[in-house]
Amino acid sequence: MQGLQILDALPDGFLDCAPRDLHRLFPGPALIELPGRRESPLFVSVLLHGNEVSGLEAVQQVIRKQTGKTLPRALMLLIGNPGAASEGVRRLDGQPDYNRVWPGTPDHAATPEAAAMAEVHDRVIARGAFAAVDLHNNTGLNPHYGVVCSLDVHTLQLALLFSRIAVWFRGMPGTQTAAFAGKIPAIAAECGQPGVPANAQAAERLVEAALNLAEFPDHPVRHEDIDLYHTVAIVRVRPEVGMGFGDASAELCLDPRLDHMNFRELDSGACFGETSHPMPLAAVDEEGRDVSTAFFAVAEGKLRLSRGAMPAMLSCDERIVRQDCLCYLMERVPAERIPSAVGA
Ligand SMILES: [Zn+2]
Repeated sequence: MQGLQILDALPDGFLDCAPRDLHRLFPGPALIELPGRRESPLFVSVLLHGNEVSGLEAVQQVIRKQTGKTLPRALMLLIGNPGAASEGVRRLDGQPDYNRVWPGTPDHAATPEAAAMAEVHDRVIARGAFAAVDLHNNTGLNPHYGVVCSLDVHTLQLALLFSRIAVWFRGMPGTQTAAFAGKIPAIAAECGQPGVPANAQAAERLVEAALNLAEFPDHPVRHEDIDLYHTVAIVRVRPEVGMGFGDASAELCLDPRLDHMNFRELDSGACFGETSHPMPLAAVDEEGRDVSTAFFAVAEGKLRLSRGAMPAMLSCDERIVRQDCLCYLMERVPAERIPSAVGA
């Protein structure tokens, strides 16, 4: 892998560069540091996943609109994986996932990618960054939502600049947001599907709002202003189980409209598909414990939820399901459980 490149200006052609051509400007990950009126920089990362292009389109538009002016706040912009972007994929074969290699990663600590992201992390902290925003897309039908790894007031205020829906992940070491949690306000913004102009515009509004914010308000977030969920399970299809969406011959035939269940609070008994396998899914909680049978049951060939939960990031793309996961399961965080962060 090419090591981290650090630039103090945008290279010519950047603002109009398509994601597939970025590798001509950047042979590997690149950190671009631009000055602004407020010195404490906003850190924004795009293309940690090479096919998630809304973030790039958003920052190109934010910077384009400021042509000839000074940014309201300094910006540190990370272009994560231009190699994967050149092929329109999440990551290239042989690469680790660029959002699993940040400090704290249990699996990839010795890789050059982890060294590059650790260098970025150290530099962002050393410069006293104001906040960290990691821009992503996802597949399937999902609303815009922020992912937080900490429930401090400023992190929730940052999340609310993007959406009233926020998901709290306590674990997942190696993600960028987890690596910054507790140090500076940090969110991952999940901007829906790539290639949709409204999704890039939502990311653009977030970046502009964060650049223009003088400081985070200290007052608590009102619980009626936020829909806060936490992850209770990550759900994968067991690797040995054959699967398909709407394919009745598959060992696990998932409902081809499964992604319509995203961010719907489902009751026990909700059906995910049909299967000849006794338990085709492997669900683990944030501590890595197997919770498959706590959340799912197979009876008479139907795969159903065995308790109420809300899925997120359900994807009907088999490649994504195999490479990442089928979905996350969420539960609403009651306001009274986080009194220090969520006031009345
Ligand atoms: Zn992503």
